[in-house]
Amino acid sequence: MFNLLDYDLDTLLAWFSELGEKPFRARQVMRWMHREGCDDFDAMTDVAKALRAKLREQAEIRPPALLRDSLSSDGTRKWLFDIGDANAVETVFIPEAGRGTLCVSSQAGCALDCAFCATGRQGFNRNLSTGEIIGQLWLANKLLGAAVAGDDGEGRDNGRVISNVVLMGMGEPLTNFENVVAALRVMLDDHAYGLSRRRVTVSTVGIVPAIDRLREECPVALAVSLHASDDALRDRLMPINRKYPLRDLMAACRRYLERAPRDFVTFEYVMLDGVNDSDAHARALIALTRDVPCKFNLIPFNPFPFSGFARPPARRVRDFAGILRDFGIIATTRKTRGDDVAAACGQLAGKVRDKARRVGLCPLQTMEEVFS
Ligand code: SAH
Repeated sequence: MFNLLDYDLDTLLAWFSELGEKPFRARQVMRWMHREGCDDFDAMTDVAKALRAKLREQAEIRPPALLRDSLSSDGTRKWLFDIGDANAVETVFIPEAGRGTLCVSSQAGCALDCAFCATGRQGFNRNLSTGEIIGQLWLANKLLGAAVAGDDGEGRDNGRVISNVVLMGMGEPLTNFENVVAALRVMLDDHAYGLSRRRVTVSTVGIVPAIDRLREECPVALAVSLHASDDALRDRLMPINRKYPLRDLMAACRRYLERAPRDFVTFEYVMLDGVNDSDAHARALIALTRDVPCKFNLIPFNPFPFSGFARPPARRVRDFAGILRDFGIIATTRKTRGDDVAAACGQLAGKVRDKARRVGLCPLQTMEEVFS
């Protein structure tokens, strides 16, 4: 059985052409599936009966199974999805005035092993398929009771509950490149979710060649997890830095901006008490990013058991942001959302059967177990 959630329009067109079906049929099915949230071929009333029968025989529309639905006191909602083989991934919906952001996972676990991240602690199991990535959006739309209302003709996304998607859930999207890009294409496709490139953000630890490839193949808004202003500290916090140090990363950001839908890169910066949060660190960041048009998004560290890090006092975060702003850099502080259901940045842990079998880490304990 083919899962049609695995298909972007191009691959669906190719399959329909093999079936001897016209291209407009593929577009029709895309619209039913993603705009209407339909998973029943028989309900696709304007699709020819013979084609519906063929589809029923060979294909299905199957999102990951929902395991748990948690609602935070601040309205943030977190879903835990079963992806089989004792693995589960998390998706978070963050409602705000004027927009709704869906935070999507791209892998079961993560292989990057950043020192301050709960997902990394769990190790890595596997990449999510395109269908498992897009299935999170497909199901979230349904669970939020949201049809994809589309543009109102004046560029506003009236009535659209999920107006923004960020690949900031579990996993490193750029080490699952093909599946992530196919899912991005469905998000952007007018026959599916029709989101603008500016409203879809890929967040990465900074895999330099993949940033270049994304620029060529599917430029969307880019966020880079920076977290340190010098290589020595970044090497410690994020092992990937040893492979792609800051100088190369900054150059890749500059190249990306030649094609990006936005004229800045967002640098995410997790604030770790006494580690990377001094005035000197802020000044070093200003020097480091001098040639990269950027905004900073400061993320006060979200604690998890045995992390070994702490969140700085609110005043430190304010002063740090103040130094960046005095220099003319836009710096926002990410509000901690959903932390009562462990849905905040870095707290997503789902359930992962680690294949990396790292040693020396805390015993495998999922956030679900810790917080339930
Ligand atoms: N792998 C990608 C996507 C994950 S995005 C990336 O690293 O960019 C999740 C964001 O939350 C990243 O910026 C990550 O560094 C940050 N983060 C991880 N652990 C955190 C924690 N405990 N507190 C706050 N932010 C954290």
